[in-house]
Amino acid sequence: MNLDFDKQGGLVPAIVQDADTLRVLMLGYMDAASIDATRATGRVTFFSRSRQRLWTKGESSGHRLELVSLSVDCDHDSVLVLARPQGPTCHTGSTSCFAGSAENPLASLDALILTRERGRPAGSYTTRLFDDGVRRIAQKVGEEAVETALAAVAQDDQALIREAADLLFHLLVLLRARGLGLGDVEAMLAARRLARPPTSA
Ligand code: AMP
Ligand code: ZN
Ligand code: ZN
Ligand code: ZN
Repeated sequence: MNLDFDKQGGLVPAIVQDADTLRVLMLGYMDAASIDATRATGRVTFFSRSRQRLWTKGESSGHRLELVSLSVDCDHDSVLVLARPQGPTCHTGSTSCFAGSAENPLASLDALILTRERGRPAGSYTTRLFDDGVRRIAQKVGEEAVETALAAVAQDDQALIREAADLLFHLLVLLRARGLGLGDVEAMLAARRLARPPTSA
């Protein structure tokens, strides 16, 4: 990993983002050893400036950050860490150290649907859909698509927004029932965007 540690006294700022919801979770500092430790253990490890030692996030709280990926910025002086938090990231008990950081709502919904599929909690509508199977979910997507189309031509904005939300939810459940997620569709969209650069009107 080509990082310029000398610029900032051996440390680089590390922005941690939730790999599933895309929410910004915290900012820490890393030195070369903490980057090595993060990669070797798969647990996000910083250099604590107050304690002047390596600090694996969650070492006392248990609220670890499981590493998904590490990437360097354009001029090699900061890192972006994608991680899966095993509990609240902030020591105050908040999900994020930044109260103002926002989640990607679709990505968050997709992550929630995945936990429903795995856990199948009783009484959950999503659990019932998964239990009913792909054919039933596909039928629901068809119904919601028709309702969305009808709302677009015959109802007010709020009705259209509600139907579009229903459609997106059921579409994510359908993808998940086939073992797919929002990321698979986003990858297709990204590939198409690269294949066909936007032309001017
Ligand atoms: P932990 O690494 O979660 O076991 O927490 C150990 C100590 O690190 C806490 O008592 C806090 O002092 C500090 N700490 C934990 N999480 C954060 C954070 N997100 N940002 C800054 N300091 C933290
Ligand atoms: Zn930079
Ligand atoms: Zn915090
Ligand atoms: Zn509907």
